[in-house]
Amino acid sequence: MDRIYLCLAHMSGKEQDFIKEAFDTNWVVPMGPNVNAFEKDLEHFVNSSYNVQRTTSNEKRVVCLSAGTAAVHLALLACGVGPGDEVLVQSFTFCASSHPITYLGATPVFIDSERESWNMDPDLLEEAIKDRIAKTGKTPKAIIPVALYGMPYRIDRIMEIADRYGIPVIEDAAEGLGSRFNGQVLGTFGKYGVLSFNGNKMITTSGGGALICDDEKDKNEILFYATQARESYPYYQHEHIGYNYRMSNICAGIGRGQMTVIDDHIAHHKHVQDLYCELLKDVKGITMHTNPTLADYPDNVQRPTSNATFDSNFWLCTCTLDPDLKVKGQENAYKEVVTGAVGGAAGVTHAASTAVTDCQPNANVEAMRVALDAANIEARPLWKPMHKQPVYRDAPAYVNGVSESLFAVGLCLPAGPYVTDDHVRYIVDAIKAAIA
Ligand SMILES: *Cc1c(COP(=O)(O)O)cnc(C)c1O
Repeated sequence: MDRIYLCLAHMSGKEQDFIKEAFDTNWVVPMGPNVNAFEKDLEHFVNSSYNVQRTTSNEKRVVCLSAGTAAVHLALLACGVGPGDEVLVQSFTFCASSHPITYLGATPVFIDSERESWNMDPDLLEEAIKDRIAKTGKTPKAIIPVALYGMPYRIDRIMEIADRYGIPVIEDAAEGLGSRFNGQVLGTFGKYGVLSFNGNKMITTSGGGALICDDEKDKNEILFYATQARESYPYYQHEHIGYNYRMSNICAGIGRGQMTVIDDHIAHHKHVQDLYCELLKDVKGITMHTNPTLADYPDNVQRPTSNATFDSNFWLCTCTLDPDLKVKGQENAYKEVVTGAVGGAAGVTHAASTAVTDCQPNANVEAMRVALDAANIEARPLWKPMHKQPVYRDAPAYVNGVSESLFAVGLCLPAGPYVTDDHVRYIVDAIKAAIA
């Protein structure tokens, strides 16, 4: 069996036509016809999802950028975030949600998750807003919920709270392209929406990202900062600091090809999720993370409105291991320092100095990862919460223990277009075989 990866890029075949066109017309620069057309495709994709029909004048606009991280950075800049400011961000996320806050000299304030969606806990969010205002005398400048592994956040309540305090929401939908809450795609609820087209995401441009914004005026402002903040003089005139964040016309060609298969990709991720659920339902001690329903929310919290629906794209399929589950070899977990990049993760160049840290997945989770790895299956722990990352040790955090406890028990399983039904059966068999 060839190695089964977490999420591999998958081409439609049309990408090369668009790239060839870029070469033939000599548009090998960070702008051009492919960039404009890819933006139009994305605008069509996000604007066709509204429950209430939007008119041309209030349709969302999309700016293509060199990375999702750049999109987070520019959204924060557009929200006026600067030195000394605070930004409320989901702690259970990939570092690209929070690192750009620090690029601007601001401080991330981490918000823990609710157990149902694994995403930003709205009650904790409101508690944090009140406490930051009381402690600093200033209102936080932005709120960043994250669609972890594609799962929608409670955007109904987050928007209601954000609007009440007048704080803009930047949706980090980098992992949630095409996920929907109440039928509407993520990234279109807040002031800004972040998308990523990195090599492992729902669609790819090799590397790239986009920012969804409200209108042409906001789009122009983002474009201005994404292209070195040039004023319209015949010579270079600069009155602001800008960035070189525009998407290349070559990458956008890949993106145009990918847009022809985006619906198929999303459908396939959901299919793989369903198959895992079916094949693992009788395996004791292993629980798949699924779309929450109303019944999952206890009575003592403000539940989603009665018709609320979570519709994850299941970018990655994730499960949790009961702490009592015995996995073969778990007594040897964490005995050795990991020397290579785990699972071939690109860009990991710092060798670990210790085999353990003070916050890590349980031994049975690590043993399961190692067992799957030996069966040529890439699995990875859930993202380690940012409030437990040494680099953020001084950042304020509002925690309830949820993300830390999920990190201890969770595992990401392969998903995506290359994962066949036979692969899923093979992976589930390998999981069963690893149980002691
Ligand atoms: C991938 C990702 C990003 C950023 O995307 P890049 O295109 O890799 O810069 C941002 N937030 C989250 C949660 C992500 O997973």
